[in-house]
Amino acid sequence: MHGHNVVIRLGYVDCVMYLLDASGEYFIQMAAHGPKNPVALDIKNPIKIKMGEGIVGTVGMTGKAEIVHDTTCDARYIMDDEMRCSEITVPITNSFNKVIGVIDSEHPHRNFFTPADLEILTTIASITAIKLLQATSQERLQSVREDLKQLVYTAAHDLKEPLRMIGCYSNLLEKNYAGQLDDQGLEFLHFLTEGSKNMDILVQDLLSYIHLSSEQPHKQVDCNEVMGRVLTNLHVAVQENGAQIHCSELPVVWGHFSQLMQMFQNLVSNAIKYRSEAPPVIHIYAKYEYRQYLFSITDNGIGIDPEHFDKIFKIFYKLHPKREYGGTGIGLATCKKIVENFKGRIWVESGKGQGSTFHFTIPR
Ligand code: ADP
Repeated sequence: MHGHNVVIRLGYVDCVMYLLDASGEYFIQMAAHGPKNPVALDIKNPIKIKMGEGIVGTVGMTGKAEIVHDTTCDARYIMDDEMRCSEITVPITNSFNKVIGVIDSEHPHRNFFTPADLEILTTIASITAIKLLQATSQERLQSVREDLKQLVYTAAHDLKEPLRMIGCYSNLLEKNYAGQLDDQGLEFLHFLTEGSKNMDILVQDLLSYIHLSSEQPHKQVDCNEVMGRVLTNLHVAVQENGAQIHCSELPVVWGHFSQLMQMFQNLVSNAIKYRSEAPPVIHIYAKYEYRQYLFSITDNGIGIDPEHFDKIFKIFYKLHPKREYGGTGIGLATCKKIVENFKGRIWVESGKGQGSTFHFTIPR
C-alpha cells in the first residue's frame, strides 16, 4: 500500500517488482502499480524474464541500477503491456549483496527518469529487501514452531499408551501380589505407581499446553462463574489443607471460559500447594484500571525469591524438587500463554517467606 502511495507521488505511470525464482534463472512479476495492477494485489498477465535478458534481466545479472532514456534505441528493451520510451530499473539485493529481485518502472516519454528517481527507487529497493527478509523469517519461524508443536504433540500422544500399560499392570500387581512382596518390594511398587501417575499428569499438562488455542476471545465470560467451578474442582485440596479462600466480586471479561478456568485453577492450586506452616489464606480480587482488568491472587505461602520471578513462567521450571511439592512446571507457563493470547500480562510480587501475589491483566 505504501509502495502505491510513493509511486503515485513520484508521478510514475507504472512500477513493477520482480523476484528471482527458486531456480535463480527467472525474474517473476510479483507486485505492480499501474495498468498491470487492475484490482487489489492482482497482476495482469504476469510475465517472467530470464536472467541476463532485457533491461530487467541485465540489472538482475549485474546488480547495477540503470536509467534508459530512450528505449527505442536500446536493443535490450522488452515490451510488456505497452511500448514506453523511458525505463528505470534497480536491483533488490539481500544482506550478502546477492540480487533477489528488481524494481522496474517505465514511462511513455523519453528522458523521463532523473538521478533523483534512481536514488529514491534504490532506497525503496533497500526497504523492500528488509521487508522481504522479515516476511521470510516470520514464515520460517512459524513453520519451525508448527513442526515443534507437532513433534511434542506426537511424542506426548505416543507416550500415553505405554504409560497406561505401566499404570494398569502396576495396579494389578498391587491388587493381586501385594501380599507376596516384602517391604522393599512394596516400596518399589509404590515408586512405580507414583512415577506413572506423575508421568501421566505431565503428559496431560503438556498436551493441554500445546492445545491452547490462540484464537481471539469470542465470548463474555463471568469470572465469578469461573471461580465457582474452580472452587468445586479444588474442593479436596481446600479441605485437606484447611485453606480459606476469599473471593471478591469479579468482572465479566471477553475471553474463553475454559482457558480462564485453567488460569485461575493453576494460580489458586499453587497458592494452596506452596503453603507455609500456617493454613493457606488466599484472596482473589480484581479492579478496573487503564482500560484493563487487573486480577490479583494473594497467598500467605512460602513466597518466591525475586531472582526467580521471570524464570517461574518458563515451561518446566520448578523451584523445588518434585518430591517436595509435586507438579510439572507447566502451570505458570500455561497461564502466561493464556494471558498473552488475551493480550494481557502476568507477573508476581513476592519475597522468600512472605507469601506471593500473582497479578494478571485482561484488556477490556
Ligand atoms: P508446578 O507444576 O511446579 O507448580 P508452575 O509452573 O505452576 O509449576 O510453578 C512454577 C514454580 O513457581 C513452582 O515450582 C514453584 O516453585 C513456584 N510457585 C508457583 N506458584 C507459587 C506460589 N503461589 N508460591 C510460591 N511459589 C510458587
